[in-house]
Amino acid sequence: MIKLARNSFAAIAFGLINTSNAQADTVEFKLQEVAKGLHVLFGQGGNIAISSGSDGVYIVDDQFAKLSEQIKAKIKTIQPNAPEFVINTHHHGDHTGGNENFAQAGSHVIAHHNVYKRLEQKHGDGSDYLPTLTFGSDMKLHFNQEHAHLWHYHHAHTDGDAVIFLTEQMPYIWAISILI
Ligand SMILES: [Zn+2]
Repeated sequence: MIKLARNSFAAIAFGLINTSNAQADTVEFKLQEVAKGLHVLFGQGGNIAISSGSDGVYIVDDQFAKLSEQIKAKIKTIQPNAPEFVINTHHHGDHTGGNENFAQAGSHVIAHHNVYKRLEQKHGDGSDYLPTLTFGSDMKLHFNQEHAHLWHYHHAHTDGDAVIFLTEQMPYIWAISILI
């Protein structure tokens, strides 16, 4: 966990949950570039990390369904196409609420096996909220000249938490709800 401490800035940036406007109808989005090809979108609920580069775009978490169009519009200011992948760091609605909208736009949702189970319980078998790719202890996503390493942490914030380590854009660690 030394790494986590050294990278506390990134942990705070991605893990921060804005509860002050959790029920607000209008949301002020703020897009911030934190490294080359790496943005954070601050909106409502869990923040979104955006990787962009020669392969396209993928995002970490997707907030609430009602915000998907605004989120897509923000992503388009970086690159024009829908994200190739959406990684869910856990199953809660402020991290997976946009799954259906992004899946229907062509994104492939990635999450831990238990996120699939939880979303299946909530939305039913065959729902577009469910991930299309799931993993157990870990997996790697080789995209945009980056080798994102997704690690599952047992029974942390939920039973399906994932932390994403970047090997090329260190010291960034994506979407750590565990630390808050
Ligand atoms: Zn949560």
